[in-house]
Amino acid sequence: MEMVFCPACAADVHDGTAACPVCHAPRALPAPCAIRRNPFKLIALCLLWAIGFWLLSLFLLGEQAERQLGGQLLLASIGLSIALTVRGNLPGTQKPSHAP
Ligand SMILES: [Zn+2]
Repeated sequence: MEMVFCPACAADVHDGTAACPVCHAPRALPAPCAIRRNPFKLIALCLLWAIGFWLLSLFLLGEQAERQLGGQLLLASIGLSIALTVRGNLPGTQKPSHAP
């Protein structure tokens, strides 16, 4: 019997059972590709990372530099965050993979 992860609670479940014995969630049947990233979670994470990048740039360059750039650091942070989120490079935004 092969053990697989319950997608709902991450418990070890015997491959072949219809529902998870721990949380009683129905076992997701194949098609891991069908698992989509939650767009609301992605947007929230994207905003958090944008603020994080911005604060980091303020910390590295100083508030005076940001004032001189007229808020361009914030725009750059948001752009970087969106790009990395779309690519799935940030923690929490990874795309579901086929990895075993
Ligand atoms: Zn479960």
